Amino acid sequence: MKPNDIIRAEISALSAYHVQPSAGFIKLDAMENPYDFPAHLQDALLARLSKASLNRYPSADATELKTAIRDAMNIPAELDILFGNGSDEIIQIIAMALAKPGATLLSVEPAFVMFKMIATFCGLKYVGVPLKPDFEIDVEAMLAAIAREKPAVIFIAYPNNPTGNLFARGAIKRIITACEKNNGLVVIDEAYFAFSHESFLHDIAKYPNVVLMRTVSKLGLAGARLGMLIGPRNWLQEFDKLRLPYNINILTQAAATFAMEHYDALLDQATLITAERTRLALSLRTIPGIKVFPSQANFLLIRVTDASRVFSALLSRKILVKNPSASHALLANTLRLTIGTSTENDAMISALCEPV
Ligand SMILES: *Cc1c(COP(=O)(O)O)cnc(C)c1O
Repeated sequence: MKPNDIIRAEISALSAYHVQPSAGFIKLDAMENPYDFPAHLQDALLARLSKASLNRYPSADATELKTAIRDAMNIPAELDILFGNGSDEIIQIIAMALAKPGATLLSVEPAFVMFKMIATFCGLKYVGVPLKPDFEIDVEAMLAAIAREKPAVIFIAYPNNPTGNLFARGAIKRIITACEKNNGLVVIDEAYFAFSHESFLHDIAKYPNVVLMRTVSKLGLAGARLGMLIGPRNWLQEFDKLRLPYNINILTQAAATFAMEHYDALLDQATLITAERTRLALSLRTIPGIKVFPSQANFLLIRVTDASRVFSALLSRKILVKNPSASHALLANTLRLTIGTSTENDAMISALCEPV
């Protein structure tokens, strides 16, 4: 027999999530924080890690880490926290919990690709509502889709990836209310909160159908794989049943607890990245043929005349960015540039000044 005799057809039809090899490149394709862990904290971090009992299972509900996150991120006492091995795992937990036969996961397009992929993994119908050409959310189209599809869940990234913008708050609130009337949950994905400082954290309590995701991936701890879901107890206690035991390993718990005790040092790096975002955007706007879209995240989406030629020209200069052009009509001839260190950004600017 062959695997495809029994593998689900929609899984056979998928292509695996592709990660571009990056050894030897200036890596500006994946929204990582370009800085090392703060030098003055590295010894103390190692000391903390050396105390982790690798022979034991980790704390099952990551009690210490929860307290540290609650303090660092000012999570209101009435809200619970659930951890995932990256926010990707949380998206998967939510999708598994809501995957009744015929259930729909709705999002905007273009959006974070994992929303659609995980819908497919879990057997949910996926519906994507196109953004407007300026990447603002199309509220009327969303309300129509909600009435038509009655989605079990809507995922909205705030700011959005790969476009970088924050959708209008009022638009999101109308979507939340419409979704509630149709018995649907809204997940606000705040992966880029450290660069936007805009949040729905203090709106969660106003609605019965809102939960919020954050991650430490964009904050300097992408390698640790830690995402979190923040929301009312009644939702999180159901999702927690699907979380595999010990899903957050002991080294991640120790490292992230330590990092949260020094949250200000991570936020200082985020502030540097935000300042570099402003500088890079200003420089790129002076280059003929480049349009820079507004960003509240740690990356810039730009439009060029021929994205695949510019992508190759950057590659030949050992700069790796993301070319999402083929993934959606609204992204034609765009490139997504992660904000790097000032040296890396200077290399990007001079490469983009060269004719292709
Ligand atoms: C990068 C990103 C994440 C992060 O996922 P992790 O699994 O926590 O690394 C989540 N959502 C969006 C929209 C992102 O861009």
